Amino acid sequence: MRYAVLGTGIVGRTIAAKLASLGHEVVIGTRDPDATLARSAPDAMGNPPFSTWHADHSAVQLRTFAEAAAFGETVVNTTAGAAALDALNAAGSANLAGKVLIDIANPLDFSQGMPPSLNPVNNDSLGEQIQRAFPDAHVVKTLNTMSCFVMVDPGRVAGPHNVFVSGEDVGAKKQVTELLVSFGWPESGVVDLGGIETARGTEMLLPVWLRLMGALGHTDFNFHIQGAR
Ligand code: NAP
Repeated sequence: MRYAVLGTGIVGRTIAAKLASLGHEVVIGTRDPDATLARSAPDAMGNPPFSTWHADHSAVQLRTFAEAAAFGETVVNTTAGAAALDALNAAGSANLAGKVLIDIANPLDFSQGMPPSLNPVNNDSLGEQIQRAFPDAHVVKTLNTMSCFVMVDPGRVAGPHNVFVSGEDVGAKKQVTELLVSFGWPESGVVDLGGIETARGTEMLLPVWLRLMGALGHTDFNFHIQGAR
């Protein structure tokens, strides 16, 4: 399948590399491809510049958000939460219409410093905002409750653990579940929470996840729901 991965950070790179390794055609989207390739400094988290990663993944093309979204039969949003709607607007509603739009972003708000808060929160979610803004896309929120390395390699965490899906379109969630299985998730580990409103719940796990990262000192952990079938 042709995938557009919108976002050049560590999550976009990790998802793009996994999709390409599975034989999919992948284009990564960014605001300005030349500017992204010209960056030479590590990002704020210490990840190497995009060009370093791209040198090892040259089969993955780098294009503008709009060009990438036009290419993809399925689109994956891995942009910064506060910028996600801007990035998707740049991708263009016509390029998202009728497509499964997998949303991995979290609406982290760093404006008041660390740790980040959430915006929106409680009575809205980024997943819902995206679905409202792009009503012709089939938004599925998933994978946002774990490190990107666990997303594509669930075996990094010992024992059973879970990944959630939220979205209005049953067919879209089925397609995403098949993708998750191809990433190594057992189908029994995929918990369908219901409509896109349930993204409020998974996005609100982030404050817990961030404190767990602080307490455990690593990111190879995940939520396991005892009793999930
Ligand atoms: P990030 O630094 O949060 O986001 C990078 C992307 O956001 C880049 O593609 C950048 O565009 C785009 N962006 C930033 N400001 C923008 C703006 N004003 N307008 C348009 N686009 C803008 O990357 P990340 O650390 O890989 O995280 C990606 C998402 O995944 C986030 O929402 C994060 O909360 C979520 N998430 C992360 C993890 C994890 O393991 N790190 C786990 C779960 C969920 P350019 O390419 O043009 O620079």
